[in-house]
Amino acid sequence: MPLYFLKKERVMHNANENRYENMVYNYSGKSGLQFPAVSLGFWHNFSDIDDMSNARKIILHAFDKGITHFDLADNYGPPGGAAEKNFGRIFHKELSAYRDEIIISTKAGHPMWPGPYGNGGSRKHMLASLDQGLKRMNLEYVDIFYSHRYDPETDLVETMSSLVQAVRQGKAMYAGISNYPPDVAKKAFKILNSLGTDCVIHQVSYSMMNRQIERGLLDVHKKYNVGCIVFSPLAQGILTDKYLNGIPKDSRAAKDHGWLKREQVTDEKINKVKQLKEIAKERNQTIAQLSLSWALRDENIVSTLIGASRISHIDDNIGAIENLSFTPDELKRIDKILNFL
Ligand code: NDP
Repeated sequence: MPLYFLKKERVMHNANENRYENMVYNYSGKSGLQFPAVSLGFWHNFSDIDDMSNARKIILHAFDKGITHFDLADNYGPPGGAAEKNFGRIFHKELSAYRDEIIISTKAGHPMWPGPYGNGGSRKHMLASLDQGLKRMNLEYVDIFYSHRYDPETDLVETMSSLVQAVRQGKAMYAGISNYPPDVAKKAFKILNSLGTDCVIHQVSYSMMNRQIERGLLDVHKKYNVGCIVFSPLAQGILTDKYLNGIPKDSRAAKDHGWLKREQVTDEKINKVKQLKEIAKERNQTIAQLSLSWALRDENIVSTLIGASRISHIDDNIGAIENLSFTPDELKRIDKILNFL
């Protein structure tokens, strides 16, 4: 008998039937697309130097818990491109039967290859990067294609029209932007609208440790009715119990390739986290849960985009949705701890 008849049939992941029961889904602005209140990002923990059996467990566990959105970018690694490649492999082995239940996003705009077309917001770079990403993930399309950053060297119309072109070509379902300052975001929303493809979401940094978007950007979102997905809502792990007793060996801050540096884990920040822990306790939450529910309190913030290095992080973090409301007194106490009063 030829050997290929003896080959074991590939078995896909059998997803948890109750996966939609305990997640909250929010519409993004005027779009019909709903995002899970907790989404999973691939910036760390899915590179060529990470443990792929752990990465596989995290992806499958997240999907089983109702996390339907996986966020990537061309440059996530190391090396750049590795997260897309590794995600693609796991996805095709385990989850491709569920493709229509999953939002996969990717982004372009940061340096990827040498020369004038390897970076930025030109049509040349944006569409070449998307093509490379689709190949790495072995996908026909992504759900959201983002401009990863505003490129002041390129006319905004060119960057926005490259997103629209990707949508028209069927390589992306929706267009998004990331890290745009308020005045440019406003222009981007208008251009995209005039080109017939509204911005589905803006991906920005937001946490108790970084409240920059409260200074104008959230108002722009309200005015144009565009949703936000907020990245690093746990300040890369600082807004959890992880660093309360020093820097653990296996933490992001201890890893050479991690973007969180040891010196960013300051006593001042940890003192604040210790005070926040008291409020979390009163609300029957962990610090991570308090941080995520706090980040979701603005109606235009539709999803918190977390990272996870183990499946227990997923379980802890999705627990945030069990207590999403805050009393004015709790918010005042949090502001005081964060020196926002
Ligand atoms: P977080 O703030 O959620 O930090 C994630 C890290 O925090 C984990 O890797 C883990 O660190 C730790 N952690 C998570 N949950 C817990 C928990 N319950 N208890 C203890 N520790 C926990 O987000 P990220 O900074 O990872 O960013 C998330 C995603 O946002 C990225 O993957 C990416 O998709 C996106 N992003 C987008 C950017 C952009 O420019 N558009 C920029 C940055 C991120 P450890 O590894 O130490 O265990």
